[in-house]
Amino acid sequence: MSGSDAAAVGIRTSPAAITIRDPAELTLDGNEAAARVAYALSDVIAIYPITPASPMGEFADTWAQGERTNRWGAIPRVIEMQSEGGAAGAVHGALLAGAQTTTFTASQGLLLMLPNLYKIAGELTPAVIHVAARSVATHALSIFGDHSDVMAVRQTGMAMLASASVQEAQDLALVAHAATLTTSVPFLHFFDGFRTSHEVAKITALNPSTIDAMIDDELVRAQRRRALDPNQPVLRGSAQNPDVFFQAREAANPFHMAVPKAVQRAMDTFEAQTGRRYNLFDYRGAPDAEHVMVLMGSGVGAAHDWLCAPHNKDRKVGVLTVRLYRPFATQAFVEALPSTVQSVAVLDRTKEPGSVGEPLYTDVVAALAEAWEGPPPLVIGGRYGLSSKEFTPPMVEAVFGELTRAKPRRHITVGITDDVTGLSVTVDPTWNEPETTLRALFYGLGSDGTVGANKNTVKIVGSHTDRYAQGYFVYDSKKSGSMTVSHLRFSPDPIESTYLVAAADFVACHRLPLLDRSDALERARPGATLLLNASHSADDLWRHLSTENQRMIQQKDLAVWVVDADAIAADVGLAGRTNTVLQACFFALTDLMETTEAVAAIKQSIQSTYGKRGAMIVDRNIAGVDQALDALCRVEVPAENILATHAAPRVPSIAPAFVQRVTASILEGKGNLLPVSALPVDGAFPTGTSKWEKRTIASEIPIWDPDICIDCGRCALVCPHAAIRMKVASERDLSGTIKSKPWKGPEGERMIIQVAPDDCTGCGVCVEICPAHSKTAVKHKSINMEPIGDHLDEERTNFDLFRMLPEADRTTLKLTSIKGSQLAQPLFEFSGACAGCGETPYLKLLSQLFGDRSVIANATGCSSIYGGNLPTTPWTTNDDGRGPAWANSLFEDNAEFGLGMRLAADSLENRARALLTRLAPSL
Ligand code: SF4
Ligand code: SF4
Repeated sequence: MSGSDAAAVGIRTSPAAITIRDPAELTLDGNEAAARVAYALSDVIAIYPITPASPMGEFADTWAQGERTNRWGAIPRVIEMQSEGGAAGAVHGALLAGAQTTTFTASQGLLLMLPNLYKIAGELTPAVIHVAARSVATHALSIFGDHSDVMAVRQTGMAMLASASVQEAQDLALVAHAATLTTSVPFLHFFDGFRTSHEVAKITALNPSTIDAMIDDELVRAQRRRALDPNQPVLRGSAQNPDVFFQAREAANPFHMAVPKAVQRAMDTFEAQTGRRYNLFDYRGAPDAEHVMVLMGSGVGAAHDWLCAPHNKDRKVGVLTVRLYRPFATQAFVEALPSTVQSVAVLDRTKEPGSVGEPLYTDVVAALAEAWEGPPPLVIGGRYGLSSKEFTPPMVEAVFGELTRAKPRRHITVGITDDVTGLSVTVDPTWNEPETTLRALFYGLGSDGTVGANKNTVKIVGSHTDRYAQGYFVYDSKKSGSMTVSHLRFSPDPIESTYLVAAADFVACHRLPLLDRSDALERARPGATLLLNASHSADDLWRHLSTENQRMIQQKDLAVWVVDADAIAADVGLAGRTNTVLQACFFALTDLMETTEAVAAIKQSIQSTYGKRGAMIVDRNIAGVDQALDALCRVEVPAENILATHAAPRVPSIAPAFVQRVTASILEGKGNLLPVSALPVDGAFPTGTSKWEKRTIASEIPIWDPDICIDCGRCALVCPHAAIRMKVASERDLSGTIKSKPWKGPEGERMIIQVAPDDCTGCGVCVEICPAHSKTAVKHKSINMEPIGDHLDEERTNFDLFRMLPEADRTTLKLTSIKGSQLAQPLFEFSGACAGCGETPYLKLLSQLFGDRSVIANATGCSSIYGGNLPTTPWTTNDDGRGPAWANSLFEDNAEFGLGMRLAADSLENRARALLTRLAPSL
């Protein structure tokens, strides 16, 4: 099809795309935006990875290896330390030795740096650390974003500057580096983890002359002159006594008091250079506003979107953005508020149990009490967005709804349903984004390159057109077969929308089964275009969709297109890598760029992305793009529904009540709708839930040929997912199509090797290890990978029958042999570890040998993610309800955590022994 067909298929056209290439613009994510500034202004960079800040360190490391120089023509020394505490120590040392020094971190990593931050601030040492703010682990770990980590820094003496967007992550990074030099107060520059750190957006780049104007080299030299130096020795870090410690702390006051003015001066200089205006507190809205929201970080984007909605044009409302959070500039804050304000809602992206209110709320209350002329406005506090919980314009509306009630509640929560303490505000989700914004959603798998292709698409549109582009990527936490959802926006106007796409103009499902497993169709706006990657022809596709999906497509009048991207990828020698094929189809179905121009840009980026991997890879990708457009076909949507199957429920009705109520909702992508009362209060979840999540991600599964099998059990031993199993059963217990073979045991016993087809990842490790070859058929083994479509129904039934067969009595098994151990029931099954994982077979074996009496202290890392990540977890129980009890503490203390468990077990055992000894005479 041609690019001009786009208009005919329902994609709205926005103002004509002008092809420009402005070197002053960059399309990058928040981490890269901040890291570019930090790198340019550092001599030493001490790093330690922690999500979501890791890319900043990785960028710095890569640039140093590529011999990129900093502003002073030197290559910064980038050193990876053994922990965040180590990185902070190295930063402290490098600073005192006179180097411009930085680091990057988040969450617990930041907390490990706290002792050094007190020191660095106490010694009035200019420095900036950049933080992708993330939840601190409490009842559970979360890698997602909120301000609970940075709020732990507010009392250290560090100045704190908050960025709300990718553009600001760059701009305010520079302001922080400039202001620390003029004030000698170190800065923490932070932005929201994932929402800003990982959002890809088109921004205006910094001009080197801007950096020259902002950074005073004389101050850099002054810092070097303050360095520890044997030519002019001083002593730092003394131990002080009650007589002088207090006074010495107070001696630093003038430096902290000077920070707000210095920051504003740096912002003013920045504006003079770039035209982009920042203030300590930025107010937007009606000059005579009566109701104002105060917040900081990426939530500002959603609040501004709401503010700009037509229905707010004449409302007396406004939004105040906090940029300099510490020191909190009371007078500047009060002056930034309209004098007409009657009530203020302060939103905190953190929770501080037991306090009067969250930190920003208490700051605002105190500031108004101190500096407001006359009776201060009413202030209410709201918690929102914990762990990257969505914060949307309708939620902003709900907060203003609370503010304008006759008696607003003092404390509220936003974005959840709190049916326990009743704090939440009710949200009407109706929201219309500007018609000029093209919104696209892509549902893919972690392994198929969907996210990479979409990042590339954002960059192509950002650099080849005058449109603004934004990409945000949501991952589920499985390591194998994980679903990714790419949220893309393209607009002629700057994009501030810091929330997910709810009503897309274009939806692509890069793997057909995801249509049933996701909310792809729910998020399509009426009349949207739907692109499906499927092996079915355009004529045949319809009958392969579930009744529910057919109905939704008809009701929403979606324009459906199909392409067999897998076949094209396989044909060009890139089996499984469908990214560039589907990327070409996206451009063909939208009017973002002329198709020929887009295809040329894709090929150009293929060259730069894969060039290092050789001409063959480049040629294959280009061949895939060339085939894509010819294979793209429109599907006729019948007016009437035709016979189809119903979508299977996410979990079967026999699943436990908790799984039906809570786990199933999370699996359906409706976890956001679960009320507070649905969740365990202390983070304790039932085990054994992975068996209810049927993912069916393998394209091929192992099929057993019992005639060749030598009963070695190796296939079951090595399977990373416990998806192929061995059992011995009495002949009379066998039924249906389940396959078996004679067993060298009591008369009538038979051995079975059975695959769990919906849980297999298709890694093929079991087939590789199988030693039994056919003597007649070349390459035929006792198990062989075969297309899942040919076997799914039968093997599903067989696995159900297999599960019903009795488990072996472990006391009769020879657990020291492979075969014997594999007859024991695994109590670790169907994990979301990577396909072919080399670690999980050991955990499975451990669970077979000791699982019914294990208490596990799991170190943080891969195993804590595939072992303990919601929605479903693999540690499970036997028929007696016994199985491993599992817990994870922190990254840095697992040995001690496990030792504590051991000490407790020993202590309780000793006590039991003592009690038994005492009771023995009477027994
Ligand atoms: S293909 Fe991989 S996941 Fe599937 S049964 Fe074999 S080893 Fe297990
Ligand atoms: S590895 Fe092969 S021979 Fe051994 S039990 Fe499995 S299927 Fe049979």
